[in-house]
Amino acid sequence: MQKTTETVLEIDLNALRQNYQYLTSKIDKTTEVMGVVKAFGYGSDAVAVAKELISLGVSYFAVAYPDEGIALRNAGIKTPILVLHPLPATFKKIVTYSMEPAIYSRSMMQQFITFAEKENVTDYPIHLKFNTGLNRLGFTADDTAFILENVSKTNSVKIQSVFSHLAASEDHLEKDFTKSQLDQFRSISEIILEKLPYKPFRHTLNTSGVLNYPEAQYDMVRTGIGLYGFGNDPKENSHLKPVATLKTVISQIHTVKKGETVGYNRAFKASETTKTATLPVGHADGIKRLFGNKRGWVTVHGKKAYIIGNVCMDMIMIDVTEIDCEEGDEVIVFGENPSADELTQVINTIPYELITGISQRVKRVICRK
Ligand SMILES: *Cc1c(COP(=O)(O)O)cnc(C)c1O
Repeated sequence: MQKTTETVLEIDLNALRQNYQYLTSKIDKTTEVMGVVKAFGYGSDAVAVAKELISLGVSYFAVAYPDEGIALRNAGIKTPILVLHPLPATFKKIVTYSMEPAIYSRSMMQQFITFAEKENVTDYPIHLKFNTGLNRLGFTADDTAFILENVSKTNSVKIQSVFSHLAASEDHLEKDFTKSQLDQFRSISEIILEKLPYKPFRHTLNTSGVLNYPEAQYDMVRTGIGLYGFGNDPKENSHLKPVATLKTVISQIHTVKKGETVGYNRAFKASETTKTATLPVGHADGIKRLFGNKRGWVTVHGKKAYIIGNVCMDMIMIDVTEIDCEEGDEVIVFGENPSADELTQVINTIPYELITGISQRVKRVICRK
């Protein structure tokens, strides 16, 4: 590993590999895996992650928006791509790049069929998304007759898969709710499968679904956060390894005398002589202001150093009074220690938000540890 000389987000493909192996150990060998690589691969590097996942056996990718899929296509990736959140305005991009839309409403279905007919495509793969309780996107059980009728009237599209999304698969207190979602999905998808002359595949589990409800794996699972090293549960986290490590360096060290202050609005006041280090990473890089004023911390030579004062746009200051360190030394903002999980707990959010929020200004470095 090269010595860190600036702020970088290291992406460890061996950790990805290990996480993939752990997650797939929970499901049958014949169950396929859809790698969820939306939002730049949860803030990592979607192309590097996708290529590694192909070598591991992933057979589908999911992105939220078409541009995310186009980035994969431009990198030469030919694997099928499900676009989770298409809009009529993006149909053209989706078809041009051979991506497959999730169809989630009657009007979207009619508009896509009209579009597909105009484009002269046949059997274009579409995926039916059903709302079973998340109340975000999706058809309801009442829509099945409409869907079947519209699909039977055209040869421009074919139903490639039927899916739904769980609202609280990580929450053990919501088991009954999750089971009712799974029951609804089973009955809706059975109706669709019974009435069609061909057999679409089915999928409804996200990462925590795989870990907690493997009995509902159907033909495929859609895993995101677990691949990147988080299992929404301390026990699961111990089997997974964070793929992303945000590293930086100490730009400058100051000795701040008792009574002096640090940073904007003088938010930190030294009650005694304090050694501080300034780091080249700030809220524009994704380190939220909520982490300021000793809520968040980083690790310097394995030791905990709190963020003091307010987080600036491009910098943070940390307290290194008790740490033997100098300018140029490496700092871990998150990774193995602190983990994005423990760090986000103090500001009442989840690792998803921290890792996807590291801005594109931060250079991604691919490695295998
Ligand atoms: C983001 C997303 C996933 C992945 O969820 P994880 O909790 O990250 O595994 C799966 N399915 C849908 C529809 C999603 O939007």
